[in-house]
Order: sequence, then structure tokens, then C-alpha cells
Amino acid sequence: MSLSRALALLLVALLAACAPAAPRPASVAPEDRAAIAARLEADIAALSSDAMAGRKPGTEGGRETYAWIEQRMGEAGLVSGTNDPGSYWRLPVDLLSVTPESAELVLGQGRRRVVVPTEDAAVFTPRRRALAFGGPGTGVPVVFVGYGDGSVLGDALAGAVAVMLADPGRDQARREALFRQRATAVLTILPDRDALAALRAREDRPRLQLASEEQDHLAAYITDKAFAEVIGARRWAGWKKEAEAGDHAFAPLELNLSVSIEATSDRREFASQNIIGMIPGSVPGSGAVLVLGHWDHLGECGPPEAIDRICNGAADNASGIAMMLELARRLKAGPPPARDVYFLATTAEEPGLLGIRAFVKNPPFPLASIVAAFNLDMMAVAPAGSPVGYIGRGRDAALDDVVLAAMGNRGRTLGDQTLADSFLQRQDGWALVQAGVPAVLLSSTYGTRAILDPFIASRYHQPSDEVEGIELGGAIDDLLLHEDLIRTLADPQKYPAPAKTRP
Ligand SMILES: [Zn+2]
Repeated sequence: MSLSRALALLLVALLAACAPAAPRPASVAPEDRAAIAARLEADIAALSSDAMAGRKPGTEGGRETYAWIEQRMGEAGLVSGTNDPGSYWRLPVDLLSVTPESAELVLGQGRRRVVVPTEDAAVFTPRRRALAFGGPGTGVPVVFVGYGDGSVLGDALAGAVAVMLADPGRDQARREALFRQRATAVLTILPDRDALAALRAREDRPRLQLASEEQDHLAAYITDKAFAEVIGARRWAGWKKEAEAGDHAFAPLELNLSVSIEATSDRREFASQNIIGMIPGSVPGSGAVLVLGHWDHLGECGPPEAIDRICNGAADNASGIAMMLELARRLKAGPPPARDVYFLATTAEEPGLLGIRAFVKNPPFPLASIVAAFNLDMMAVAPAGSPVGYIGRGRDAALDDVVLAAMGNRGRTLGDQTLADSFLQRQDGWALVQAGVPAVLLSSTYGTRAILDPFIASRYHQPSDEVEGIELGGAIDDLLLHEDLIRTLADPQKYPAPAKTRP
């Protein structure tokens, strides 16, 4: 027995002697922490191994990953949570990957036709090929809407090509409004080539989306200078002035301009999987607790010349899946909960919370039955004893009370709330919050900048996020806190479901 072990036992004995009347969670012996650490590390090592190739949805590594999770869920004693005998463990998520391929914008006035050079124009479509013509002789009006969204026109935009002036912050919503009015294409005038380059940096790469959210848009962009050259500088300056003066009330005008817009994309449709297991509650119909974490990561992401290009995602988010599995094992080892406890490993979080959004759209059990959801994301960064970053605090008073009490019982302190709040919309729990499900993320990773910033700077979304760099002290603290919380919240006697979440 080591000296420190002897001291630890003495300390436990002293604490026991002066224990307060309130029930405290069972303390965890150092050798138990060591056993938890060994299991977490083994699972993180497996998930972040090069064999999983960075766990990208739609790849062999992605399929390996969810097959591995299913197997571990089964070994932990979970049963399928799909509530569909035809699909064990798996909730398919239909995804669409679109990569822009080619684009051409041709403008003309009278007999003059100008193929706008690529430094001055860009066109994007989710279709394999999209083409739109407008202007004199085509039967398709080209309509200048200025800074508006075409709503003053009623149905008159249907089939037209709309031309709008960029107005940062509002453009996306205005473009969507124009497409809702069935514009065939929208041409946005950007202030300069820098703005166009910034747009390309965002749009000119593979984009993953839910197949169910596909929008059939043909969106073209041109710099102000290039547009002025075709229209005539003086005339263009005059129209812009009118548009500025009129703002939203500006009466759209039909342009005597011929337009040809074309774009092609490489499209791939495929299914990935959310994986869901559960511990059935002993009191059916009493509600559910949901534990979730995303299994996907970025695949290859290092620079092209790097020797190691695989982004293994050990902290992000092999650690969250490992913690979910360990929670499942520990909860299975105890008395059965009254409420159902679900364990959901989501796909495609990295490209924009796609897997969880698919889950919310088509849940395998009523979302309203979930009394609380705990997202586990980037859990293996902080050392033991670190403050808790509480993402999602302040949205559900009853849940806040239970979480803060559980933290107090474990001697945990609350971290920097501003820091935690800044992550609210960047994690899977956000899709649940938006659907009215009380969802939080409790992790010592987001407790202080002193802990988070060095990780973000050196390993976040880089090939260096490997198992060698993980820190499990804070993860074990957080795991024990979650275990307490899930047991409490899964018990209707201790946590009656608020009326709004009652199934
Ligand atoms: Zn990430």
C-alpha cells in the first residue's frame, strides 16, 4: 500500500466521522477511479485508432465506428432503443453530400454578351446540373429587388430571376424568402472581390446536409464592379441610389438584362446511423432520461503534405462515447431505474448537428417524455478537481436545482458561465433545446479558459487530438456527477416530471 493510499483512506475515515445528515453519493475509492480510467482509456483508444480513420460519416471508418458502438452497447447489457423490431440499434440518417464542380454566369445587354470571369462571379446549386435563363426574349423577367426580399411583389416573382444587393447579416434570410416566392435563381451583388473570395472559402467545398432538408436553389453571385460594367456604371449607380432610399419599400424593377446562370455539383446520397440503446425503466410510461454524444469526427483533416492526416478525435468525441458506455455499465450494475434511460450516439454532429436534428424530426419515442438530456462532448481535457462548465444552465429551473445540488454533493464548483454559454448552440443538445427538451452539457472541459484555450489552440480539430493527449481526471469527476444525476432524474419520486414534459 502506498503512502498516498494510506493518507487517502485516513481522509475518507475522517470525512465519514463528520459526515452531514444529508445523504451523500457513495464515495469512489482510488482503485475504482483507476478502473474507470482504464476502461475509458481503452474505449477512447479503440475509437480514436487509425483503424476508424477519423470516424467520418459515409466512410468505412464511420461504419466500423457504429458497428463497434453497437457491440459495446450490447456487452454493457443495453437493449436496442429504436422501439422498432425491424431495426436493432440503428436509426438511419439520410445524408446528402454536395461538392460544387463548375459554374458559369453570362450577362448580356443588346447584342453584347459577357462571360463573367471567375474572380468576379460564383454560382452554386445542390443539383447535378442547374440552368436558368432570363431577360428579353426568354419569357423570364429579371427583377431587381434592391435591399428587399421581394415580398412586396406577391406572386410576381414566380419563375423570375431575382437580383439583390448584399446586406451582410440579412442575406441568407432574404435569399430564402426569394426562393420561397419561387424565384428560378437569385443573383446577389457583392461589394467587391474580397467578399466573393470569402464566400468561396465558405461555399466552395463539400457540404453535408440532411437529405430531407435539401433546398433546390440556384444561387449566383457577382461583384458590384463586374455588374456595373455590363449594366453601365451611371445607370447602375442610379438604381442603387433608389434602392438605398427605398430600402424595404423599394418597388422592384424589371431589368433589360439577359442572364444565363449554370452550375454543376457532384452529389452523393448515403445513409449513416444514429445508434441508440436503452435500459428499460421499471415503471413504464413514467418518462425517460436521455444520454447522448456524437460518434463522428472529421476523417482526414491535416494539411495535404502531412505524414499523419487522420483527425482521430480522441477528446472530440471518442471521450464522450467512452463515457456514455461506462455510464451504461455502471447504471446497469445498480438497481433498475424507474424511468427508461436511453443512450444515443449521434452521427454527423461536426457538419452541423445533422444526426441529432434527424433524431428530433423522427424520434423513436415521444420527445415530450424526456425529463432531461445530457450531452457528452469533448470530455477528456481537464484534470481532476476542475470547475464544471454548465452549458444550458438557466433554461429549466427544476433541472438547474437538481444539477447544482448534485454538484454540491460531489464538492464540484461552477465554472465560467459566459464561457459555457458561448458553446450552447455549438453542440447536439441545442437541437433538443430548440425542440423543447431540457438538455444540458456538464463538463470540466468548458469550466475555465485556462483549461479550454490550450486544447483549442493545440489539438482541437487537428491530427494531434490523439489518445496520448487525453486527461481523464476531470472526465471521471464528470462521469460520477452524471451517474448521480441520471439516478436522481430517472426516479419519479425524486424528480416528478414537470407538467410540460409529462408524456
Ligand atoms: Zn468537433
